Amino acid sequence: MEILREPAAFRDACDRARLSGHRVGLVPTMGALHPGHLSLVEAARARGATHIVVTIFVNPLQFGQGEDFDRYPRTVDQDLDACDRAGVDAVFTPIRAAMYPDGFQTTVEVGQLTAPLEGEHRQGHFRGVTTVVAKLFALTGPSVAVFGRKDYQQWKVLERMALDLDLPIEVVGAPTVREGDGLALSSRNRYLSPGERERALSLVEGLRRAWDAFAGGAREASVLREAARAPVEQETDRVDYVALRDPDTLAVVPAHVPDRVLVAAAAHVGGTRLIDNVVLGEDPRP
Ligand code: AMP
Repeated sequence: MEILREPAAFRDACDRARLSGHRVGLVPTMGALHPGHLSLVEAARARGATHIVVTIFVNPLQFGQGEDFDRYPRTVDQDLDACDRAGVDAVFTPIRAAMYPDGFQTTVEVGQLTAPLEGEHRQGHFRGVTTVVAKLFALTGPSVAVFGRKDYQQWKVLERMALDLDLPIEVVGAPTVREGDGLALSSRNRYLSPGERERALSLVEGLRRAWDAFAGGAREASVLREAARAPVEQETDRVDYVALRDPDTLAVVPAHVPDRVLVAAAAHVGGTRLIDNVVLGEDPRP
């Protein structure tokens, strides 16, 4: 497995792979890798990638004031081991100054899709995400790039960016990987104390209640939303949102919901902000 820290060397390595006939698959991450991340490597392979690149970069541009950039977990040695064991071909771990040298002043911004949900609660977050991913796309030249549906809106925003900018990249959303009890895997879960972890389960509990209500025939948005919201409201310290949205446009859904509807939640447990979601009418019960 190649480990690259310099953008130019990384680009050369990707060029060589492509020139020798490989279909390059890109999996961008911020590290602190867990089985959810590694499932994206598998998904890239399943989409026909023969040379898989993982990037590990805690991107300062996507963190707001007062967010957890400084304390975000950094476990590079374990991450490299995990990538090696997963059969990853190359890992790119640039330093901040290599991605954002002095004078850097260009950003990429996607419109409407970035306005609600995460966009409403994390000012500038998506601009940071789209900018760094555009740079990673440009350096890598992948045929396929895989993102987790755990960050559902992020996946939709990046899919839109590739479409709008005519980037010839298949943007894939891979299913959310969960612990045995349903908690969505997240690098931030390691911040949780045992008691907080227990309360964090209220997010998936809410999604399950909405899923069960939908499966039982409920189609009233207010009923589904209340089902999802109640446990989150009760167990977490602050709810950012529990919202029903169109899974493709993220627009507000009508009072009587359509056949597919996104339920997305974000809440704080202690000092940790967690998100989760399910698409009713499409996803299995979380
Ligand atoms: P992060 O390192 O948190 O920026 O995540 C990197 C990628 O892994 C993103 O595309 C995430 O959506 C994805 N990811 C994170 N957690 C999970 C999970 N539990 N299941 C599937 N994908 C995930």
